[in-house]
Amino acid sequence: MTTTEPRTDRGAELDPDELRRRYELERDKRLRADGNEQYVEMTGQFAHYLEDPYVAPQEREPLFDDVTVALIGGGFAGLITGARLKEAGIDDVRIIEKGGDFGGTWYWNRYPGAQCDVESYIYLPLLEETGYVPKEKYTRAPEILEHCHRIARQYELYDNACLSTEVQAIDWDDERDRWVIRTNRGDAMTARFLIMGNGPLHRPKLPGIPGVESFRGHTFHTSRWDYDYTGGGPDGNLENLRDKRVGIIGTGATAVQCVPHLAESAQELHVFQRTPSSIDVRNNRPTDPEWAASLEPGWQKRRIENFTVLTSGGMADEDLVMDGWTDIIGKLLVRFRQSDNPDLTPSGIASTMELADFDKMNEIRSRVDELVHDQNTAEALKPWYRQFCKRPCFHDDYLQAFNRPNVHLVDTDGQGVARITETSVVVNGPDGEREYELDCLIYATGFEVGTAYTRRAGYDVTGARGQTLSDHWEGGMRSLHGMHVHGFPNMFLLGHAQGGFTANYPHLLEEASLQLVHILRHAIDNDIDQLEATEEAVEEWIQTLDEKARDMRSFQQSCTPGYYNNEGMPLQGAGLIGASYGEGPMAFFRLMAEWRESGDMAGLELRSQS
Ligand code: NDP
Repeated sequence: MTTTEPRTDRGAELDPDELRRRYELERDKRLRADGNEQYVEMTGQFAHYLEDPYVAPQEREPLFDDVTVALIGGGFAGLITGARLKEAGIDDVRIIEKGGDFGGTWYWNRYPGAQCDVESYIYLPLLEETGYVPKEKYTRAPEILEHCHRIARQYELYDNACLSTEVQAIDWDDERDRWVIRTNRGDAMTARFLIMGNGPLHRPKLPGIPGVESFRGHTFHTSRWDYDYTGGGPDGNLENLRDKRVGIIGTGATAVQCVPHLAESAQELHVFQRTPSSIDVRNNRPTDPEWAASLEPGWQKRRIENFTVLTSGGMADEDLVMDGWTDIIGKLLVRFRQSDNPDLTPSGIASTMELADFDKMNEIRSRVDELVHDQNTAEALKPWYRQFCKRPCFHDDYLQAFNRPNVHLVDTDGQGVARITETSVVVNGPDGEREYELDCLIYATGFEVGTAYTRRAGYDVTGARGQTLSDHWEGGMRSLHGMHVHGFPNMFLLGHAQGGFTANYPHLLEEASLQLVHILRHAIDNDIDQLEATEEAVEEWIQTLDEKARDMRSFQQSCTPGYYNNEGMPLQGAGLIGASYGEGPMAFFRLMAEWRESGDMAGLELRSQS
């Protein structure tokens, strides 16, 4: 059942003006004055939501030794960079990881149905180097985790790693030109170079719904799935839920994948929805061994770049991946071909792109009509925004789950859950409050984006002039190329913020690792003790980011709120997309390649004591 009024546009393909009006209306419904502040940090009474349910920490003695490189984070950032450092002959690398093993997001996210939405052949890093061919076009979480372990083993990253180890503080020691890293295991180790690979969606968050602390039934966040309670495993069969009334809050990429499994197993399932996701076809298939055998050396890089070009507004002669991410470009080309005199100016391309986007989203909405039997439920599941306003989702069973008699969509018409009590979730509807009694409440409410870097990392860093990173960035992040921070010598950040963002995140990490290895090799070969971005270079980069972000900001402004656009407040430097280089990832990667080729380390000050 849904709490919305029946709507009458079933199957209709609305005209562009009507669509713009509807998109604006749906966005405005969801804009909130508290923006990103609406979420609750998992500390204090909520800290238990963060506990590692998978691995008990092994006993070990505290470490006080020195390493050349300390890398915080054992996810893709740590694995890719660790591997590339080793290939470049920089062997003394230590990865420090909070989880009990390598894997990062894939260590934590083990919920039933977890799968990667980006094609496995471009998403899994180092496929040619490890000689591994994924089993399917879209890989499942256990295979990804296994691949992380494969990389760690092949590049001997386990040897010196500190797992189940949480960094608590990092301080620069100017006398020794070393970072001192303190952890919850009593360590006070030192490192010549410090690399932060904390991950963009790393710290789970809770919605700040009144009463969120009061629920007395069973509860957990999807990134710490409690299989002891639900039974079953990553493939589903959650047999302990057969006699349980389960609620799930959130309908983003995570919920879309686990809802079909909950639907199959729970006695009753209530899906509390604020904004529907766009659900395109998944169309997964096993890898064709003949195709795999035909791949020429260098194939993975070519395929990765082709995808990034096509998903960041660029053109290519062919579409190698051909899936729901790149389909919109195909629709754009069809529009151009249909026109006798296509307008190829930037504004002409932008308006044709908007029409292609309408085509795409009409298709997505029609798919809901095709798959969902109940008309009101179908209407409530239709997304009214442009495709890349929110993370697009892909699934072949999610929408059909709502045809089951035990599954109930509780659409809140953009308002979210009203409150939580000891026993129930309460929602406001046209006929007043409605209460849903539950045995188990699952939060699929995502991860912190746009909160302070140090809050997300879980520790602060004190730089060369005694200033902490949180103080230095009080007014917003300030970096050179998203990697270097003035006042924090020999420290490097890995990620998309103030660099290039792409939906295929490992691509940007691979590019960042090239940059990093180039700089570290230079520093080591030339006995550089301290390497630091100048204040002027940082200022110049911030101005460049600001100039390049203008067009992107107006698109972001028109979008329904979410973590892509800083919950509807797309300021420079905020939100997942707003924080990145506005000309797109490929332009950023080219800029970095030119920077390396010039060989002059522009913007960095290099100091040697001897
Ligand atoms: P998201 O941040 O995408 O989704 C959070 C959900 O919680 C949204 O539906 C949001 O609604 C909802 N929500 C928040 N507050 C409330 C409230 N007060 N009442 C009701 N609903 C509320 O988190 P996910 O974990 O789903 O995904 C995070 C990201 O992780 C993805 O975008 C993707 O990048 C990545 N991911 C990738 C996967 C893959 O490759 N397959 C799989 C899973 C995740 P609203 O939209 O209105 O804000």
